Amino acid sequence: MADGRERRLAALCERLTVEQLDGLLVSGAANVRYLTGFSGSSALLVVSHQERLLITDYRYASQAREEVGAVARVVIEAVSLWNGLWHQLPAMPPLRVIGFESVNLVHRDFQRLLESGTRWQWRPTTGLVEALRERKDAEELASIQQAIDCAERSLAVTVARISTGMTELEVAGLLESALRQEGSDGFAFPTIVASGPNAARPHARPGLRTLQAGDLLLVDFGARVDGYCSDITRTFAVGAVNAQQQEVHGVVRAANERACQEVRFGMTCRDADRLARGYIEDRGFGESFGHSLGHGIGLEVHEAPRLARTAEGVLIEGAVVTVEPGIYVPEWGGVRIEDDVHLGAAGARVLTRFPRELIAIG
Ligand code: ZN
Ligand code: ZN
Repeated sequence: MADGRERRLAALCERLTVEQLDGLLVSGAANVRYLTGFSGSSALLVVSHQERLLITDYRYASQAREEVGAVARVVIEAVSLWNGLWHQLPAMPPLRVIGFESVNLVHRDFQRLLESGTRWQWRPTTGLVEALRERKDAEELASIQQAIDCAERSLAVTVARISTGMTELEVAGLLESALRQEGSDGFAFPTIVASGPNAARPHARPGLRTLQAGDLLLVDFGARVDGYCSDITRTFAVGAVNAQQQEVHGVVRAANERACQEVRFGMTCRDADRLARGYIEDRGFGESFGHSLGHGIGLEVHEAPRLARTAEGVLIEGAVVTVEPGIYVPEWGGVRIEDDVHLGAAGARVLTRFPRELIAIG
């Protein structure tokens, strides 16, 4: 564990040199966790070429020392994290130009930087740690695979228990209970269970609608293991499968399969999106696939890269991305099939294994 963190911290220091920064104030929780292993929700981390300092509060005193002690000095601050920062910074080896994470700082905290005087020059940065996180090491990949396996076991248990007449919330409750039983240390994001017409809304929230024969049932959820997320969607038919459901599902499934097989590192993010979108458009459903094809997963469920029509950049080796084409028809329902794919040196490897065919349940 310590070695992986040392490697990450060293890589960050190389970036600091390139960016002509003496240090970086890391305030994003996922970035702090990536660099130090700290799993609490409240911390500031200063990384410089000479030192790493983690400031947190009393609630995390023993946890922080256990998790972080091997790679950073830990300070427990009684008043506020910022108070701790202003006390510690002057004693740190000469820091003049310090970066801060512009996407991980609220405006009030930005004002604190402005108010800190002329001793430090604060410079906004974007994506320094996030760019490192894009490439997963073996340890991270193992955690993601565990989160996927956990989610798939949970879905199998849940599918066997679903019956017509249950509400979406009951189904979500069964699934989330199974996730806990199977070892998930939280949920990757709020579970989506959408039945019938609700499945036409890609990010529907589960509600009191009851499952009825003839519905499509879309389930999108993820487990969390060692902080790492999985993200899986499967769509089922309640009762029996009808011809229209089979047709739409077949298009989405073929688009998913094509993209999973052909996505590669080195490809532009736009071309990756195109793999599934082109197929869906050719079958006349282009207007019904309004969201992007996928995103990176890791310590956050949505992280770099983005596989989208509007995305810049190229997919890098070692990323883990989702492939999630969908077709949504208002009043009728929707189908999405989402898998998690590792862009390895030898090509793409699909990490999710749960069956993709349209299964009748309930
Ligand atoms: Zn998802
Ligand atoms: Zn997703």
